[in-house]
Amino acid sequence: MSNSLEFIKIKNFIDGEWVAETGVDVVPLYNPSTGEAIGEIPLSSQETSLAAVESSYAAYDSWRRLPISKRVSFIFDMRKAMQDRTEELAVAIAVDQAKHISEARGEVQRVIEILETACGIPTLIQGETLEGIAANINGRVIRQPLGVFGGIAPFNFPALVFGWFIPAAIGAGNTFVFKPSTQSPYFMQKMGDIFNDIGLPKGVVNIIHGNRTVPQVWYDHPKISGVCLVGSTPTAKKIAEGCGRGGKRTMLLGGAKNYLVAMEDVQTDVFIENFINSCYGSAGQRCLAGSVVALVPEIYDRMIEKMIKASNGVVVGDAMDPDVYMGPVISAAAKQKIEKYIEIGIEGGSKLVLDGRNPQLPPKNQNGYFVGPTIFTDVTPCRTIAQEEIFGPVVSVMKISGIEDALDLIGKQEFGNGACIFTQNLYYTEKFIAEADVGMVGVNVGICAPHPYLPFGGIKDSHLGTDKVQGRDSIDFFTQNKIATIRFSPPSGRFTAEEGETFKTAPEKKDVRSCVAT
Ligand code: NAD
Repeated sequence: MSNSLEFIKIKNFIDGEWVAETGVDVVPLYNPSTGEAIGEIPLSSQETSLAAVESSYAAYDSWRRLPISKRVSFIFDMRKAMQDRTEELAVAIAVDQAKHISEARGEVQRVIEILETACGIPTLIQGETLEGIAANINGRVIRQPLGVFGGIAPFNFPALVFGWFIPAAIGAGNTFVFKPSTQSPYFMQKMGDIFNDIGLPKGVVNIIHGNRTVPQVWYDHPKISGVCLVGSTPTAKKIAEGCGRGGKRTMLLGGAKNYLVAMEDVQTDVFIENFINSCYGSAGQRCLAGSVVALVPEIYDRMIEKMIKASNGVVVGDAMDPDVYMGPVISAAAKQKIEKYIEIGIEGGSKLVLDGRNPQLPPKNQNGYFVGPTIFTDVTPCRTIAQEEIFGPVVSVMKISGIEDALDLIGKQEFGNGACIFTQNLYYTEKFIAEADVGMVGVNVGICAPHPYLPFGGIKDSHLGTDKVQGRDSIDFFTQNKIATIRFSPPSGRFTAEEGETFKTAPEKKDVRSCVAT
């Protein structure tokens, strides 16, 4: 068994108990670094999904009525537990998702930062007051929780997506049913233990494993208030349809195709370092991964040479090996799909200058799902590899005539997640920030992931709905406004002559000198 782990039997976490699902199909859980079966996961039934909804619904009333400081103290304890168990949690991510262990540690750390931000919910959730709308009338906006939310995670960020949804949702007073990906469920198994260790009331968070069957019963369920997803765009569209019919609020983050644009004044070392991290980190399986590199003619040949040289230095191998930079992709099917895109690129006439198929691997990783760094040059915008999300370490290099050309190409895409520019020029920088038709922009960074205090999300096909994850946006999503209009008068129904038509907004100024002791 890889990494000396016991055979992992994934269970559902319902009402604070670990429940083994019986009488349903189970699917194997693989270690993508070795191809070895390391566990199994149930495809839970609709009945179990409904039981989880009932549990969260039953927990809602007392949870929302807890003082906000008490709810936040659970988030604080969750943060402390994650900090204390960072290594165990990172290993859990590295085992089934096969994110390289150093990146897995980074993912856990990012969730800790999100939890820190969520501890500020008493400030973030505050409403508004407008005094003196008319004589004796004030207005007030309060933010209230909605009830039970359902959330669905992709395979590539098992911890981060927990962080994007659950702290804000429960901090605001909602309860939650969470469905992890069947390909990377192990992290949430660890989190369920943490929920019990910190004494989180039963039902505040339920975890149900399975495929689309699990969330499908949420879309028109009267006890579900909203559904959120991070996943591919086709999945986001299906959920939007279902929830649209059911009248649920949704927050759906979809797929991506991100550009890295380098201008003639690019700082070469900065670009190369960020290109490697952006395109090959997590084996290209990030929603903000660089996928298209757009270069102006002045630097085209020189930069491609440096990109190839640096890519050749990327060590591919086991996600737990500290000397490795890039681990495997998630599954045999994902590897096949990426290799198919490489064939399509060749057939389409793009030039394969670095072929990542069949990378050199140690014997123990021979059956793992590896694709090495791959670069196509001479890619034109209409090619399939320039347009579709490959979700692997395959880079398409295009020659652009200048910044207008780059902005035009980015604007014509169906996706609109992120785009980064590498330049020292203030005009290019400001123009790119203003005009790139994406939700997140980077300047001299390869991954333009916003900090947890700020919203995270794309536009166009990369994001369906209005609110984004993180920051105030997620508070908006997980609360609803209630607006109160308040007319007030004394019990007699009349103000005294001294009070006049309404309360004075500030106490009358007294002559302070009259208070001076004599
Ligand atoms: P996926 O769409 O295949 O699956 C995502 C989740 O949805 C899984 O839990 C899956 O079981 C579930 N699912 C699949 N079909 C469903 C259906 N018809 N109804 C309900 N649920 C369904 O995505 P994936 O392969 O797990 O993850 C990779 C995708 O996620 C990529 O497209 C990537 O760009 C995207 N992603 C986006 C962001 C972002 O911030 N925009 C972040 C991470 C990943």
